[in-house]
Amino acid sequence: MNPPSFDGVEDCAHLPELHNSTVLHNLRKRYATDLIYTYSGLFLVAINPYKNVPIYTPKIADLYRGKRKDEVAPHIFAISDYAYRQMLDNQMNQSMLITGESGAGKTENTKKVIQYIAQVAGRSGGVGELETQLIELNPVLEAFGNAKTTRNNNSSRFGKFIKLQFNHGGLVSGASVRVYLLEKSRVIDQLKGERNFHIFYQLLLGATAEEKKNMLLDAPEAYYYLKHSSHIDGWNDVEEFKHTKVAMKSCGISPSDQADVFKIVAGILHLGNTEFGAGPNDQATLKNKLAVKNTAELFMVNPETLEKALLKPRIEVGSGKAKELVSTHLTKEKAEDSRDAMAKSVYNRLFLWIVNRMNKVLAKPDAASFIGVLDIAGFEIFEKNTFEQLCINYTNERLQQFFNNYMFKLEQEEYERERIEWKFINFGVDSQMTIDLIARPPYGILKILDEECLFPNGTDHSFMEKMDYHHKNSPKWARPKTFEPNTFFLKHYAGEVKYDTSDWVMKNKDPLQKDLVQCLKTSKNKIVFEVFGDQFDALTERDASPSSSRSSSPATKGGKVLGGTRGAGGAQFQFVAKKYDAQLTDLMDVLGSTQPHFVRCILPNYKQRPNLLNGPVVQEQLRYNGVLEGIRI
Ligand code: ADP
Repeated sequence: MNPPSFDGVEDCAHLPELHNSTVLHNLRKRYATDLIYTYSGLFLVAINPYKNVPIYTPKIADLYRGKRKDEVAPHIFAISDYAYRQMLDNQMNQSMLITGESGAGKTENTKKVIQYIAQVAGRSGGVGELETQLIELNPVLEAFGNAKTTRNNNSSRFGKFIKLQFNHGGLVSGASVRVYLLEKSRVIDQLKGERNFHIFYQLLLGATAEEKKNMLLDAPEAYYYLKHSSHIDGWNDVEEFKHTKVAMKSCGISPSDQADVFKIVAGILHLGNTEFGAGPNDQATLKNKLAVKNTAELFMVNPETLEKALLKPRIEVGSGKAKELVSTHLTKEKAEDSRDAMAKSVYNRLFLWIVNRMNKVLAKPDAASFIGVLDIAGFEIFEKNTFEQLCINYTNERLQQFFNNYMFKLEQEEYERERIEWKFINFGVDSQMTIDLIARPPYGILKILDEECLFPNGTDHSFMEKMDYHHKNSPKWARPKTFEPNTFFLKHYAGEVKYDTSDWVMKNKDPLQKDLVQCLKTSKNKIVFEVFGDQFDALTERDASPSSSRSSSPATKGGKVLGGTRGAGGAQFQFVAKKYDAQLTDLMDVLGSTQPHFVRCILPNYKQRPNLLNGPVVQEQLRYNGVLEGIRI
């Protein structure tokens, strides 16, 4: 315990007794009086209040303008202002790393950063077009990339890095967005109590009768891809749809482009209603032609070509010059997989197209500097941890290492300034072993996974055997004592995680039948045509902002998309792991060239209730998002 005079201090690092319990006690004391922001050394800890706390008004923002951090109470505005001043004073790009679990408040805090910067660095004379565009970026991203989960009615199902760009005078001049790993499996399936992406419901409930007629649309219950209830308490999809359209227009997506976008969204719903039966010799048959016809009409492709590509796609056989395309029959299950892969791919590409379009309108090629805001899912451990969770935890491992190295550098500089002799303990080394185990060539987990995807006979089992062979002596790796052939343990900075490797090879291949791609390439819908064009992958890989540390991303060396190759099955493969690792390396390079600021968002409880702080729940998050690790260092 600390003396009561330390109760509620603004920076936990000032506590004389500094450990898990005293930090929790301090946060609890502050939270009880609605002080949701607290520093802990280099971190700003933000605890979700689950209610409107009146601390974000323009008047309050004014209070933070130009103030030193120790002159004002901890706040996301204080960090934003500090980053802005540092950028101006040191001519150095800045970044704000906002992490936390789903529902912890990352998106809300990201929005507050943008709101603050638009206010203090906007042009004089009120809110101009650019400031409006900045504010409207998020509603567009949210309509297409957010969904209701059991924990959060408006959960971002992707990571994002928003760069706010400035001219030489320090005025905001543009913005660019980069997105990471949209959870596209949500398009075809959701857990009970969860929803698909908001835009599906907005369209079905908000479109006019005529629009609905044109898009052949019905009520949400009519669609297989929208399995569960569409309702969210206190949520109005009709109003949200109106806002989405206005926001899209602000961000450069004209009403005629919007019509094309909505046709694609509607087409995906019809595609999901395509049912297959099992015919003679196990061959898939079409149960309802109408769904395919509707899909074809909205995707603007030939219905017969689409039907054929769904039921009897051609595959490549033979090798070298003897290669030829032969028509094959899919089974019912394979046809269903192929349909779902198409829905996911179309939606993912549509999302990237929207981001791309906003970048075209908002990003400035001649910006002098930027503040980048990274809003990405934090480290988490679930009962079943899948491939996607490994990607998220790996990202956090790298961000934690980035933090360790940065803190280390600052300490080193201070000690040198004060001429203190000190002993070298590099905490970054800890994470390096785990990072190497996951991604270092040639035997990192992600590398072995890619290799298995290249082999026609690669399976989850052969993948596991190879991993175990190469890593069994690593202190960061373990296999369960019980017979669980699909699982391994990995030691991360925040704890040991048990991963389940079922379907990893398939998930990494993310296959889409070549004939479906060919069919979509002939679309008369401008957007479908564009997103299945050969240029599109390379385009979306590239950072739209000129301030990137490289002129071309490692994912697109020589204009060729790495990780894209063809498998023997005739499906077009985009290796997810490879692409993601390249994106992440690029992100780390950009972050490495900035002065970083760290925000850690915390859920007070899992009931979405205000005024309730659950100790163990908060402590676990303090560990997962590195706050306790920061204190240890
Ligand atoms: P995340 O992006 O981390 O998944 P969100 O930012 O979407 O989480 O926050 C989830 C919900 O919690 C929000 O919709 C909002 O209701 C509430 N919330 C989060 N932060 C705040 C805040 N600072 N003030 C008021 N409500 C908040």
